[in-house]
Amino acid sequence: MHNHDQDGPPCSHMEQLLQQAADGSITGIKKIYTLAHAARCHRCGSFLERMKLTIAALKTQKQEVPQDALERLKAKHLKSGE
Ligand SMILES: [Zn+2]
Repeated sequence: MHNHDQDGPPCSHMEQLLQQAADGSITGIKKIYTLAHAARCHRCGSFLERMKLTIAALKTQKQEVPQDALERLKAKHLKSGE
């Protein structure tokens, strides 16, 4: 059994970098380094995937509010423009 290689938290020194790679707040060599590590390290790889899914879900929820507000803003603008 090698379950300790499959499951568990990511490498502690990588956790913040993995979060930043998932939300796109790092670029360049740091991101390449992080993604390269995640590709080789199973724990960090699955942590990165979970982070991406979580962030995507959060972004989807956030986008619903501004879009609604945008519609109202447009309607307001059209009325005052007449
Ligand atoms: Zn790792």
